[in-house]
Amino acid sequence: MPEPLPETATPQAQPAGLIRVALDVPLDRTFDYRAPPGVAVGQCVCVPFGRRTLVGVVVACLSGSAVPEAQLRPISAVIDEIAPLGVEWMRLAEFTSRYYQRPLGEVMLSALPPRLRRPPPARPRRRPAAPARPGPPVASAAAIAERQAPALTADQAAAVDQVSASFGRHEAFLLFGITGSGKTEVYLQLVALALARGAQVLVLVPEIHLTPQLERQFAERFAHARTAMLHSERAALERAHAWRAAQSGEIDIAIGTRLAVFTPLPRLGLIIVDEEHDPSFKQQDGPRYSARDLAVYRAHAGGVPVVLGSATPSLESWANARSGRYRLLQMPQRARPGARLPSMRLVDTRRDSAEHGLTSALGAALAERLDRGEQSLLFLNRRGYAPVLACSACGWVAGCKRCSTPIALHLSEARLRCHHCGLESAIPRRCPECGNVDLHPFGRGTERLETSLRERFPAARIARIDSDSMRHKGTWEKMHAAIRARAVDVIVGTQMLAKGHDFPHLTLVGVINPDAALFAADYRAPERLFAQLQQVAGRAGRDALPGEVIIQTRYPEHPIYQALVSGDYAAFASQQLGERAAAGFPPAVAEAVLRTEAPDGEAALGFLLRATECAPAAREGISLYDPVPMSLARVAGRSRAQLLVQAASRSRLQGFLTAWRATLELERVPARLRWAFDVDPIEF
Ligand code: ADP
Ligand code: ZN
Ligand code: ZN
Repeated sequence: MPEPLPETATPQAQPAGLIRVALDVPLDRTFDYRAPPGVAVGQCVCVPFGRRTLVGVVVACLSGSAVPEAQLRPISAVIDEIAPLGVEWMRLAEFTSRYYQRPLGEVMLSALPPRLRRPPPARPRRRPAAPARPGPPVASAAAIAERQAPALTADQAAAVDQVSASFGRHEAFLLFGITGSGKTEVYLQLVALALARGAQVLVLVPEIHLTPQLERQFAERFAHARTAMLHSERAALERAHAWRAAQSGEIDIAIGTRLAVFTPLPRLGLIIVDEEHDPSFKQQDGPRYSARDLAVYRAHAGGVPVVLGSATPSLESWANARSGRYRLLQMPQRARPGARLPSMRLVDTRRDSAEHGLTSALGAALAERLDRGEQSLLFLNRRGYAPVLACSACGWVAGCKRCSTPIALHLSEARLRCHHCGLESAIPRRCPECGNVDLHPFGRGTERLETSLRERFPAARIARIDSDSMRHKGTWEKMHAAIRARAVDVIVGTQMLAKGHDFPHLTLVGVINPDAALFAADYRAPERLFAQLQQVAGRAGRDALPGEVIIQTRYPEHPIYQALVSGDYAAFASQQLGERAAAGFPPAVAEAVLRTEAPDGEAALGFLLRATECAPAAREGISLYDPVPMSLARVAGRSRAQLLVQAASRSRLQGFLTAWRATLELERVPARLRWAFDVDPIEF
């Protein structure tokens, strides 16, 4: 993937005073300034921009500028709070900017910790910062002595051997290990080996709530290694500290969510991406990068191995493993002696109709677990009490005023709340259309399921885990500890808790009504459903106690459910890849969408029509589709439309988008309309 850069950055400082700076402004260009001697590429500087002062990154030292001498302004200050960014980091940012079609300054500034993006409040000193120097390598392998490392299974050992044999050069591995196969142990042992070589390790995880657990595991294992956590919930000051420590080489292990892919690591020797299939690795605003894909790029550019781990790899990664671009490492068995994959059962809700959400089969299985003192998890991917409040007389449905969706009922808070824009309102006493007072909740969310469970099993200790109940900081840690301490019998939750958690006494997983995804228009829906259900099923029977999974569905004969029951990911993946190839979807083709957002729907569509007209004429191997409103056409009072572009290859797509974007930059844009490309989109 790496290509020569258009503006090759020279790392050495120039004596003279012309520099080029990337700024976070919505223009696809950089800006020239005068600077005191000694200012180097990669340095952060404060510059005057109009009447404002902005922080920017020096991307080049120039010997001349096209800007007339008189118009060149001097920079206001050099920011010495942060050492100059290294060449590798600059290349990563430039690649991100080019590949995802976003201004370089936007990419660079959004990759910095928030505290470092704004001009420092105090008068900054003008002394340029010392260049980043790699810190001392870890004292010795003995100093990071491994603690409590179990003997590896044969599969784990093979995986560790193969990856560690590639230390010092680039190779991409897909670690395909079923849930409970011990992927974490593989990561830990690889990290130990990398640290022993004096290297830094980057570990990416999809979910903020998984970081404390992983941090604990790393802290227990590597008592002397220095670990930094990087995710958006960390306080601004801590994030800035962690960033600087990573950059100066003081840190050995950086663990974080997608934004951590930009952590500067001068001694980087290994990258691990856990749950690589997870959609949350894709940033959904600003620069819409995939942290997983950038991790692979970064490993390639830096000449280090990268391990992508998953029980249900993304179809993109699976295709790469089949074509030989990635090396496939398989772990088809659970690691703990005696632990088996749970048995999976489909319960047909046409025969066994659900009462308060539970079929008699699932109700009985739950009662059994309660009798035996084992834990159960009920998975329902819908929060609130009910997704819809409707009038039984005229059919009126309470909708969000700002979005094109019904507004969800949250009974415990006595509010209606929109799950797309967060708008809240009181529950109406009567139907605004016909005056009827008989308004009914339709459908079922986690809150309603919890309520009916409490009625049916009054002695059970029930915990609800979704983004509503987890809104307060620290709740998750408490809840997690309570579950592990067996102070909870039944967990009701959304996908939030499907990922990666290890609860040894959990033996039953019930999946309530996952059918909606079967009929989604999005071609990625089957892949997601399969991954999600496999993941949540993987929470059961992780220790010696056997696990059982019950899926309630109206369509037990559906191929996705059949594939889940047989546990054959490879067959499912081949079938899906075949369908995608036949229908012309990724990874058989490369995709991007041009999106617009405007207060009015006509404007959003109109701009896309004009964009089609000014698209580059050179279109070999490119398909441009008609502009359409997005499936959720209105969110937060703004209309959204999009236009799909497909190409035979990524390089074709890149060439086309770059040319197109240059012409679009010159188009007149209606007031309050925003447009942007989303390359490799995952949401439509
Ligand atoms: P995964 O991430 O692949 O789903 P985990 O890494 O969570 O699996 O491992 C599942 C369980 O197996 C954990 O409790 C872990 O401690 C245990 N485990 C991992 N490797 C071994 C091993 N070699 N011997 C015994 N237990 C192991
Ligand atoms: Zn009505
Ligand atoms: Zn809304």
